[in-house]
Amino acid sequence: MDIAVIGLGGTGSAALRFLADAGHNVTGYERFEIGHRRGSSHGNSRIIRYAYPDPLYSNLMTSAFPLWEALCEKTGRDLMVKCGGVTFAPGGHPELEATIAALLSTGVAHTVMSSSDAMQRFPAFRFSDDEVVVFHADAGFLRSGEIVEAQVALARDSGAEIRAGVEVVDVRESQTDVYVRTACGDIRFYDKVIVAGGAYLPMLFPELGLPLTVTRQQVTYVGLEDAAKYHCAPDRMPVWIDASTYWYGFPLDGRLDGLKIARHQMGDVVNPVVDDRAVRGSDDDVALRVAEERFGGVSGQVMHSEVCLYTNTPNEDFIVDTAPGTGNVLLVSGCSGHGFKFTVLLGKVAADWAVSGDLDFGGERFRIGGA
Ligand SMILES: Cc1cc2nc3c(=O)[nH]c(=O)nc-3n(C[C@H](O)[C@H](O)[C@H](O)COP(=O)(O)OP(=O)(O)OC[C@H]3O[C@@H](n4cnc5c(N)ncnc54)[C@H](O)[C@@H]3O)c2cc1C
Repeated sequence: MDIAVIGLGGTGSAALRFLADAGHNVTGYERFEIGHRRGSSHGNSRIIRYAYPDPLYSNLMTSAFPLWEALCEKTGRDLMVKCGGVTFAPGGHPELEATIAALLSTGVAHTVMSSSDAMQRFPAFRFSDDEVVVFHADAGFLRSGEIVEAQVALARDSGAEIRAGVEVVDVRESQTDVYVRTACGDIRFYDKVIVAGGAYLPMLFPELGLPLTVTRQQVTYVGLEDAAKYHCAPDRMPVWIDASTYWYGFPLDGRLDGLKIARHQMGDVVNPVVDDRAVRGSDDDVALRVAEERFGGVSGQVMHSEVCLYTNTPNEDFIVDTAPGTGNVLLVSGCSGHGFKFTVLLGKVAADWAVSGDLDFGGERFRIGGA
C-alpha cells in the first residue's frame, strides 16, 4: 500500500516507523527539519504515568507502556526513564481521590503516603502537613526529542521516504485515492493518508472548523545548589504532579542542568506560524518561586527555559478520527498537553487503521464530534 504520514512529531514518527517496519511504501512529510522546536514534541522530557483521574487514560497506558518498552529494546537506548512518579494534593482533594480510584481499578501498584513519610522517602521534596502523596513506580519520563529522531531514523532504515522541510498544503480524497500537494507544487497520490499535524492541523483543514485551540506553554529549568538528591532514580527523585495547582516537574534528566518545572494550564492562545517562541522572564520568576517552595536546594538561578505548544480540545481528549467526508484520511491530533505518553499508541493505531481500515482507540469521545 502507498501511505503518507503528514507531520513527524511524536505521533507521526511512530506511525511512520510501524508502517515502514511492516513493509509498506510510506512517505513522511515534515514542514520543518526533523526534531525542530516549533511543535509540541521537542525538548528532553515528557511525563509517563498510569496516574490519571480518568480511568480510561490509565487503561490506555496499559497498551502504551509495552510499545515504549519495545522501542527502548529495539534502539538499545534509555528513551524511557522509570524513576517513579508522585501525585499529591491536600487530603480528600477530588482529583487525588479520582487518581487513586483509577489506579485501583486499573490494578496498578501504588502507595499512598503521609507527607512526612513521603519526605523521608524522597528528601528532595517539601510537602505540607495536609498533603497526601500517591507514589507509583511505573512512571517516569520519556526523552521526547530523542524519541522523534530515533523513530524517524528507524523508519528511514526500514525504507520510508522522509521529506523534511516540505509543507503539505492540500489533502483531498477522490473516488480512487488521496491527493497530497506540497507548497512547492509537487503532487502525489496515496491509498491512505495519516495527518498528525499537531498545532498546524487546523490550517491544513480550515473548512472543518476543528475544535482545537493552540496555546503557548513555557517550561523552566531551575538551578540547584547540591544536585545529589535530585537525580532520576526510583528512590531518589520521581516525576511529580501537584494535583491541586497543576504544577509538575522532573528530576535531573542527565541531559540539561536544573530541575524542569512547568504548569499544566492553558497559556496564551497563539498562531503557531506567526507567534515567536521568545521565553518570558516573568514566567521563569513564577516557576522559580514554586520550585523554591517545593524543594530544598534551589539556587535561585534559571538554567534554561523554552516554549512549546499545546493543541487543546475542549474536553482535553485527543482527536482520532477520519476527516469528515473521507474514508481514507485519518486525523490524529489535539493531544491537549498530556499526549506524548500516548503518541506511540496513537501511531500504532493509525498504522493499523491504514492497513486494515479499523479504528481502535478509545471510542466516541475521541471522534471529532465528541471532542
Ligand atoms: C510544555 C509541554 C509539556 C508537555 N508535557 C507532557 C508530559 O509531561 N507528558 C505527556 O504525555 N505529554 C506532554 N505534553 C504533550 C505532548 O508533548 C504532545 O501531546 C505531543 O508532543 C503531540 O505530538 P504530535 O505528534 O501530535 O504533535 P507535534 O509533535 O507538534 O508534531 C506535529 C508535526 O506536524 C508537522 N506538520 C504540521 N503540519 C504540517 C504540514 N502541513 N506539512 C508537513 N508537516 C506538518 C509539524 O511541523 C510538527 O512537526 C506536553 C506538551 C508541552 C507543549
